Amino acid sequence: MIDWRTVDPTKLQPRFREDLESILQGSAETWVVTHGYRSLAEQAELWAHYQRGGPKAAPPGRSAHNFGLAVDVVLDGSVSPGLQPDWNTAHPGWTWLFDAVWQHPRLHSGRDFGDADHLEALGWKSLIPQGAIP
Ligand SMILES: [Zn+2]
Repeated sequence: MIDWRTVDPTKLQPRFREDLESILQGSAETWVVTHGYRSLAEQAELWAHYQRGGPKAAPPGRSAHNFGLAVDVVLDGSVSPGLQPDWNTAHPGWTWLFDAVWQHPRLHSGRDFGDADHLEALGWKSLIPQGAIP
């Protein structure tokens, strides 16, 4: 199941959104989308934060999030009310997701670059609309 919470799925590229939904709806777990599209201004803030020692972030225009081609997800680990985030990637739900994404022809897991909760369109740089790169 998929729970979009505060993320607006209409800001994702339609093909990517469809692929994502078809995968996550096939899971026995509930997946909460924590981040989706990110503007260049928002990316610039994250980048500045990273340069001051914050969490790893790409420069503006270098993240698939800036083009509606990536999301971050977390497993909702409990039926208790409210999100009970489970980032333990040894959980069978995560293992299932990594396998499903690996087998998908158009999706790629950020696990390959140490960002396990990140899912993006495979080869996303080739999917950026012409002229969209700043
Ligand atoms: Zn991400």
